[in-house]
Amino acid sequence: MPELPEVETVRRGLQPVMEGARILRVETRRPDLRFPFPEHFAQRLAGHRIVSLGRRAKYLTAHIEDAPVLICHLGMSGSFRVEADDDAHAPGNFHHERPKAAAHDHVVFHLQQAQGGEARVIFNDPRRFGFMLFAENGIDEHPMLSGLGVEPTGNALDGKLLAELLRDRKSPLKAALLDQRLIAGLGNIYVSEALWRAGLLPTRPAGTIARRSSKAAQSSERLATAIRSVIADAIEAGGSSLRDYVQADGSLGYFQHSFSVYDREGAPCRTPGCTGHIKRIVQSGRSTFYCPVCQH
Ligand SMILES: [Zn+2]
Repeated sequence: MPELPEVETVRRGLQPVMEGARILRVETRRPDLRFPFPEHFAQRLAGHRIVSLGRRAKYLTAHIEDAPVLICHLGMSGSFRVEADDDAHAPGNFHHERPKAAAHDHVVFHLQQAQGGEARVIFNDPRRFGFMLFAENGIDEHPMLSGLGVEPTGNALDGKLLAELLRDRKSPLKAALLDQRLIAGLGNIYVSEALWRAGLLPTRPAGTIARRSSKAAQSSERLATAIRSVIADAIEAGGSSLRDYVQADGSLGYFQHSFSVYDREGAPCRTPGCTGHIKRIVQSGRSTFYCPVCQH
């Protein structure tokens, strides 16, 4: 399942093609994905210019002139790819190799790019857990986005804010960090990674790093820094994969990670000087990986 860094990588990959482009037409090749497409979906987008492409948690947002904000979610297996015409004067005459899974190409945005050429942005989703919806009154009013917490990117999430969010919470630290109302878009993999970087046990009660002591303050500061850096590093890794994507089939967003604890059960801990081995436990039905020696 794509996590926030993948979604941000998709946004950055689509940005140069979509921002400033005019939507010529939209093809929906079935009536629904996870949800039915909004009424008059294609008609309401056709002819309008895309002003900007944003992201909130794991949702992509397209701000479009004289149209509602378009919200896209990749679900479990959704991906976008871009096909640009080398010869813009011969529309309809393409000799692209068809990708194997063309049967799962569900939505095609035909775009007139700001620079003049035409391009197609294609949404492919074999499992169809992805969706596209309109936020008629802006993203902050949309029921799926209105309750979301702070973004784990940027500087808003510091030790002080994290301590405020976790104060008096008795749930395990990992569960609290996965609560989207507190921090938006942080997923299972990156929570394990961030807790390892911060040297904090995923099982300890969340409120213990929000006590009014200097030790707790240091822990919350360390964790906030770890969350931001683990996400920033993954976005950077996604950026490197993006530079290669034109050589591949144009699919955006899935890239090879190297994780420090995730999926490394039994392997030696990578903390310098630590003799521990990574353990796997199940919390709320999902795997947690951590080092029992250097995480407290
Ligand atoms: Zn360790």
